Order: sequence, then structure tokens, then C-alpha cells
Amino acid sequence: MSTQSPYDVVIIGGGINGCGIARDAAGRGLSALLCEKDDLAQATSSASTKLFHGGLRYLEYYEFRLVREALIEREVLLRAMPHISWPMRFVLPHHSGLRPSWLLRLGLFLYDHLGGRKILPPTEALNLKTHVAGKPLKDIYTKGFEYSDCWVEDSRLVVLNARDAEARGATIKTRTRVEGARRDGDLWLVDLKDTWSGETYQVKTKAIINCGGPWVSEILHDRIHEQSKDGVRLVRGSHIVTKKLFDHDKSYIFQQSDGRIIFAIPYEDDFTLIGTTDVDHAGDPKDAVCTQDEIEYLTSAASEYFATPVTADDVVWTFSGVRPLYDDNASSATEATRDYVLKIRDENGKTPLLNVFGGKITTYRKLAEAALSEIKGYFPSLGKSWTGAQPLPGGDFPVDGAGRLALELGAAYPFASDRFIVRLIKAYGTDAYSVLGDARSESDLGRHFGWDLYEREVQWLMSHEYARTAEDIIWRRSKLGLRLNENEIATLEHWMQTAGVEVSAVAS
Ligand SMILES: Cc1cc2nc3c(=O)[nH]c(=O)nc-3n(C[C@H](O)[C@H](O)[C@H](O)COP(=O)(O)OP(=O)(O)OC[C@H]3O[C@@H](n4cnc5c(N)ncnc54)[C@H](O)[C@@H]3O)c2cc1C
Repeated sequence: MSTQSPYDVVIIGGGINGCGIARDAAGRGLSALLCEKDDLAQATSSASTKLFHGGLRYLEYYEFRLVREALIEREVLLRAMPHISWPMRFVLPHHSGLRPSWLLRLGLFLYDHLGGRKILPPTEALNLKTHVAGKPLKDIYTKGFEYSDCWVEDSRLVVLNARDAEARGATIKTRTRVEGARRDGDLWLVDLKDTWSGETYQVKTKAIINCGGPWVSEILHDRIHEQSKDGVRLVRGSHIVTKKLFDHDKSYIFQQSDGRIIFAIPYEDDFTLIGTTDVDHAGDPKDAVCTQDEIEYLTSAASEYFATPVTADDVVWTFSGVRPLYDDNASSATEATRDYVLKIRDENGKTPLLNVFGGKITTYRKLAEAALSEIKGYFPSLGKSWTGAQPLPGGDFPVDGAGRLALELGAAYPFASDRFIVRLIKAYGTDAYSVLGDARSESDLGRHFGWDLYEREVQWLMSHEYARTAEDIIWRRSKLGLRLNENEIATLEHWMQTAGVEVSAVAS
């Protein structure tokens, strides 16, 4: 039984919504505990298409509120994290059998004007017969449009929110599952299990925010035992990563004859990311994988456009995530709302439980603000919203300043390769200096694990970013899983489990 004083709020789930709320809450003076059963961003928040976008397609479903909020938010987020996010241009080829040109033009006009733009350039019409983006496409695609959205490193976004939450006083516990919770007078008693050590313990809190993503209903119904009709529609989305399919830095958005769209995006220098599918998911969300049918769907969808067909042999990696969409009884997975829905319950004006359904990576900060507005009545001294103008860790430099930062870092660490320097800037921003520390030569970086991963960075990731396993590092803190071989990964895992580095945010 815990003797510790109660938390103001326990947040269940270390995806983007949980970590975004923890950061906002801590910055407003609440004592917050965030519990994540696995690694941060282990579930949906590392499996997205990684776009800060308004969602061009959602205009067709009249989701104007969501699209407008997301469009405005893109530039707020770009400014707050210029290391892990950057503008991207998207090429939309006109397909003569699908949406007419005037409709694309209208949609893009709305997209350009609904949310206001200061940083991102507007839409342009393209002649694909002459434009570089036309080269990899079939000759039948002669016209198209180019518009702006943004890229974001989704799982790094989650970790940086968690780090900043902790820096502002929140407690972050990974590998800590909420087993159950019940009301006891004016407080909640929350049962926790450290899934690493097996230890169980209890904490008290005034409020709970359930950000379980695809598990939000399971937590609500099976762990907290609330009577509620609210539920989620679990919609799986899979991506394939292929060897690089084209040689420029623009992305494609390809319309499909089923009304859907897929993206083909330059990825990690040498690859192309293609996604996504939209399939109702049955079973445990943790078992989501890209099926053969989904690989077939994505390769043939891309082959409809690329002159050289994309085949299953081109695929080097796949990943899958489950969208926790609010169940609004839509007829198809594609039509289910992408907007977030917040539902609050309490007992006699005390012990609030806020359940978070749906959402997008793009709107996580706005969702956090909305969540805190929901619980404000229970915490009258709650501070004002503040996250709109505060950079995430390492993001304290101008939107167009990454190149300059890389030059400066390279000059400070002349032994490091350009590739390594650029990777560090895109992951850590100004914190890259603390990652490299006082190293004066390559040997100061310690053991080399393969590609450009050295002991010093691994230590940083363990002591500052909650990494505990090789997988945490190679698939969520970075994408070095595309570069390291099996032996190198096994060596990294062994080192992490035996080197005795203190991990931040371990359950106590
Ligand atoms: C294929 C796909 C593509 C997408 N693309 C985009 C995009 O490009 N742009 C965009 O804006 N959005 C995109 N999204 C949407 C976005 O990824 C999600 O809305 C967002 O990641 C959901 O975050 P979350 O925090 O709610 O859920 P999650 O990230 O799933 O986090 C929930 C967490 O709760 C934890 N948890 C569950 N039960 C417990 C428990 N009992 N105790 C402790 N922890 C628990 C889980 O382990 C998990 O880590 C995409 C989604 C998918 C699936």
C-alpha cells in the first residue's frame, strides 16, 4: 500500500496523447504520473505515416473542424521541434479515371486557405511531362499538383514530450502496467505492475486520464469497470518500406480506385515508405502485423503509378499500427471519424476519469489542451495553456536552422562523419552536443555497435530517454534497425542488459 501523497493525475498510456498531456499538465503545476506498460510509443504512436498534416482526404468527409485545427497546428509544431519535423512537398498526379481536376484544385484551394500558412509554400500545378516528379511515373500521368504538409519523427516526438514532462516535474514510468483502479472516497487507488521486475504496488490520485489508445476501451471496461457505452473502432493501418524508388525529395499522394489514397515518401535516405491500409482489426492490438494481402494492396496501389512496378521483393520492412478511432458507427473503416473525442465521468464531483478516444499525431498538443480544460473544474489553480510557444528538448533553434546547426556541430566534432552529424541533429537538435559530450576522437565514443551507433549515444538514450532494450533504440529512438544486422543487434542488446547503465524513469 502506498504511503506517498496522492498525485493530482495518473495518466495511463505512453503514446503521443498520454505524453503530450503529461507535459502540458506538469507545466501547469499538476503532479502527474504517467504509466506505460511497454516502451514509450510502443504501439500506434510509432506506426503512423509520420505526417503533421491536415488530412486532404478528410475534406471529403466534411471534417472541416479537424482539418482546420490540424492545418493551423502544423506550423506551431514545426516551430516547436525543427529538429524532428520539417516541411515536405506532396505531388498529387491527376488520374483521368478518378477525381476530376477541378475537384482536386478546389480541395487544394481549401487546404491552402483553411488553416493559414506562414512557413509552408502554397499549392502549384505541375506539368509531369517535364517536372522531376514526373520521371518515375508512367507516361499517362501528365498533370498534377504539388502542395505542402510536414514530416515528423513520430516516436521521437513521444519521447521528447515525456522528457520535457519529466523536466517539469512529472514522473514517467515505462514498463509499468495499470492493472486496475477503483474509487476510494475522494481518491482513486491505482494498482500498478512493474512488468520488468514483476513488482506490484499501489498509488493514489485525484484524477485519471485514460490514454490507452487501442486499449482505451479495455482499460475503461475491464480494468476500471466503468459502465459506459463509449468504445473504439480498431482500424489497422500497415506500411511497407522498400528500397529507394525515386531520386528526389518530394513525396507522392496516389489516389486509388476504392476512394482511398496512399503515400510514397522518401525515407531514411535509402528507402521509400508506402502506406497505408485501412482494415478493421480484430484481436489484441499488439498483434497487428502487415498481412500478405496488405503488402499486395500497397505494392499494386503504388504500381498503378510508378513506371517500374513495385513488387513484394522490393519490401525490406513492414510495420503496422491500430488506429483507436471513436466508434461513431460509420459504415467503413475509411469513413470512421479521425477526430478526437473526450469523455469525462466522476462521482459526486470528485474522482474524475477522462477517457481519450481517437486523435492524430498532428493534433496531440491541441488534444492535451482540451483534456486539461476538461479537468480544470477539479483543479481550480490549474495554470494557463503554455505549450504553443515552448520548444521541445533540443528544438530551441529556428525552423530553417538545422543546416547551420549541423555545420556547427561538425566543426565542434571534426572526427564525426557528415552522415552521423546529420542523423544526430535530426534526432536530438541542440541536445546533440550533450550526446557527444567531451568526445575528441572516435575512440572517445566508446564501443561501436554498427553503422554510426556508439556506446556514448546508447548511454544517453538509456539515461535520458528511457531506452531499455535494443528494440527501443533501433526502432523507436532511431530507425537504425534498417541498418544493423542481427549480430550487431544481439550485441547491442547484450551490452544494454549487462553494462549497468542507470535507466531514467525506472519503476521504483
Ligand atoms: C497507420 C496509421 C497511420 C497514421 N498516420 C498518421 C499521420 O500521418 N499523422 C497523424 O497526425 N496521425 C496519424 N495516425 C494517427 C496517430 O498515429 C494516432 O492517433 C496516435 O498515435 C494515437 O496515440 P495514442 O497515444 O492515443 O495511442 P498509442 O500510441 O497506441 O498509445 C497508447 C499506449 O497505452 C499503453 N497502454 C495500454 N494499456 C495500458 C495499461 N493497462 N497500462 C499502461 N499502459 C497501457 C500502450 O502500451 C500504448 O503505448 C496514424 C495512425 C495509424 C494507425
